Amino acid sequence: MSHGRSADLFRRAAAVIPGGVNSPVRAFGAVGGVPVFMASAHGPYLVDVDGRELVDLICSWGPIILGHAHPAVVEAVTTAARAGTSFGTVTEREVELAEEICARAPVEKVRLVNSGTEATMTAVRLARGFTGRRLTVKFAGCYHGHVDALLASAGSGVATFGLPDSPGVTGAAAADTLVLPYNDALAVRQAFVEHGPQIACVITEACPANMGVVPPAGGFNELLAGLCDEYGALLIMDEVLTGFRVTRSGWYGRQGVAGDLMTFGKVMSGGTPAAAFGGRAEIMDRLAPAGPVYQAGTLSGNPLATAAGLATLRACTPEVYARLDEAAAAIAKLTASALDAAGVPFRLQEAGNLFSFFLGTSQPVRDYGEARGQSGAAYAAFFHAMLAGGVYLPPSPYEAWFVSAAHDDDAITRIADALPGAARAAAEALA
Ligand SMILES: *Cc1c(COP(=O)(O)O)cnc(C)c1O
Repeated sequence: MSHGRSADLFRRAAAVIPGGVNSPVRAFGAVGGVPVFMASAHGPYLVDVDGRELVDLICSWGPIILGHAHPAVVEAVTTAARAGTSFGTVTEREVELAEEICARAPVEKVRLVNSGTEATMTAVRLARGFTGRRLTVKFAGCYHGHVDALLASAGSGVATFGLPDSPGVTGAAAADTLVLPYNDALAVRQAFVEHGPQIACVITEACPANMGVVPPAGGFNELLAGLCDEYGALLIMDEVLTGFRVTRSGWYGRQGVAGDLMTFGKVMSGGTPAAAFGGRAEIMDRLAPAGPVYQAGTLSGNPLATAAGLATLRACTPEVYARLDEAAAAIAKLTASALDAAGVPFRLQEAGNLFSFFLGTSQPVRDYGEARGQSGAAYAAFFHAMLAGGVYLPPSPYEAWFVSAAHDDDAITRIADALPGAARAAAEALA
């Protein structure tokens, strides 16, 4: 297999971009090798700069729910571009996109922003402004973007005040964050008993999928909502990844636990830089200019982004969700059989059409500590064999696999053809 052009481009990239990538997970740090540069994409396929077609199982980490270059989205964006790419004033489509989100998710008002990070960052600020309190509770292994206070992670084990996980995050920012093990009801109760009156918010992924897929244990999200109510803190349900993907109204559509604030991104962007956060009017109206909590954005509600987002959400019919569920189930089943046949121990965890495999362990994975029990070496071998077989998986064992409604029988057959060799490669890595 030739990585000719990708290798050249990566050398050039590394000279002018730190690590050669504009987002760390794109580098092949966890699996080794050189990232594959993509030239284009259509339906369920990516096409690399050497002209090789790959079945895409990351779908831009979620946004590409309809498949790449969906005609309705391309049409909406090109029409919008012809009418001007940014005005810095108010536009009709911003209202339409906000209405669409409010119709699907349990929020009364939303503000449009440019990334999931911006959504969670502002939601936390708003929660502090609304409650007049300092502390944020988050869970180890939950990702909420690269917000200073949310990068803190305490590793597995006991609840503790987070130390900065990244140089550049101040001790003060980290000290405002309480990091708890996921799915640990006792740790959450204890945190509220000890710090309740200082807790501004609890932020959680509605269904975590950034440490692999680790669904909330029965009653866990309900417990968070109940404790927040009892102590006057706000629950921030981060649905940036699950929103409008696992159902038309996100994980909320499966479980029915709303946050006081909710964050969205990925699918609602249609593959452009767009995200949102929302909640009850009483809370959202604390934002400037209605209230004193400041938030702004030169390109927020951008005409291209609102066009892509609206076209995507409007094309997400019940048939699209049915097809997504069907394709995800088929791919998960084929993968499980191939791993079984090769004698690779694995744990498959699913949350609707999101799923991931933990290789080298068959134990349930309920938190970040348990997620780290998987074999990174087995995944790296599996990943590279799939890539050689024409399938692009997430280049990390801590990510969900993403399908689109365009993953048809042809794409699934190509995956099926690549699986036996990849499963054998994983088995060899474990031997
Ligand atoms: C991707 C993600 C974010 C961050 O979104 P960006 O657009 O990458 O800043 C936040 N929360 C969750 C749950 C995510 O999956």
